[in-house]
Amino acid sequence: MKLLQTLTQTPSVPGREDRIRKVIQEYITTNNLFDEVSIDAMGSLIGLRKARRNQGSPDARPMRVMLAAHMDQIGFLVRYIDENGYLRVNPVGGFDARNLFARKVRVCCSSGDLPGIMNASGKPIHIASEADKKKIPEVTEFFVDLGLNAEQVRAKIVIGDMVVLDGPFEEVGHSVVSQCLDNRIGCWAQIRAIENLRSHSCDIYAVWTVQEEVGLRGAQPAAFGVNPDVAVACDTTLCCKTPGVPDEDRVSLSGDGVCLHVMDGSMISDIGLIDDFEKIARSRDIKCQRAILPRGGQDGAVIQRSRSGVKTIALACPVKYIHTVTEMAHKDDLDSYHRLLTAWLETV
Ligand SMILES: [Zn+2]
Repeated sequence: MKLLQTLTQTPSVPGREDRIRKVIQEYITTNNLFDEVSIDAMGSLIGLRKARRNQGSPDARPMRVMLAAHMDQIGFLVRYIDENGYLRVNPVGGFDARNLFARKVRVCCSSGDLPGIMNASGKPIHIASEADKKKIPEVTEFFVDLGLNAEQVRAKIVIGDMVVLDGPFEEVGHSVVSQCLDNRIGCWAQIRAIENLRSHSCDIYAVWTVQEEVGLRGAQPAAFGVNPDVAVACDTTLCCKTPGVPDEDRVSLSGDGVCLHVMDGSMISDIGLIDDFEKIARSRDIKCQRAILPRGGQDGAVIQRSRSGVKTIALACPVKYIHTVTEMAHKDDLDSYHRLLTAWLETV
């Protein structure tokens, strides 16, 4: 849990992934998990772990497997500083404005991180009209207060500085709760899966991609560079078994294991791979469940369609309250996630 905690507490929004990349790179290098580590032009981190045993004849080319987990999180970039020193921000990723009231934020600038408060423009409840109380502002109507005067703010902040919501990592019941479990869980599962690997006959390219939250932008060039035979996209998915949601819309169940993402709005997983993963899960007594998300997308979509096409499956951890600072994931699902990935890699 310590590694997952560190990953969730390292701010990195689309286009500003240098911090999380450094944390992952240091960890995989210190622990000698890969034979080669590189970073592509857009900033995706790629670890190559060469086959540890021959597949058939000694000179046969090993199967090339790509794992991909996006390492960016939803957040904001500063777009304007007003005359009083309040910041206006541009979202990078899909926020629900209803979750943005009265939030602590962290503004990351060249001189260090500054604590701030995010709130919506408008009147507090004591002086708001009935119409004001019902209004849900646009994300761009929220502002950040740094508790500094305009001159001090301008001396520290430039347009394009990163802003993230601030929230702790905590264990709650059988679950972990934190901001950006989407997708530090996928980043973490890839690391754990490689750590626990014994022998494997495929070349494994583990990729931590950039800019997924703004439209799957980093995975596409990364997949072109890796040129895989088969790919596994590692992400999170909705778990809506919560009050107010019809059961048929739950997508996945918390505690029932990692999801084999049959399809979402962006891709249909290779059915042969779904079957393979299910068989392995059954034989190893690892919990997994099938899930369909009618909308949404993830990196698997662009990897699947790169070059002349790639057999691709998406794995996902069920996460409640996704895209808030209180995302919640069951520890059993975290456990089954990396165990199933390791078990499959050993059979490819
Ligand atoms: Zn995600």
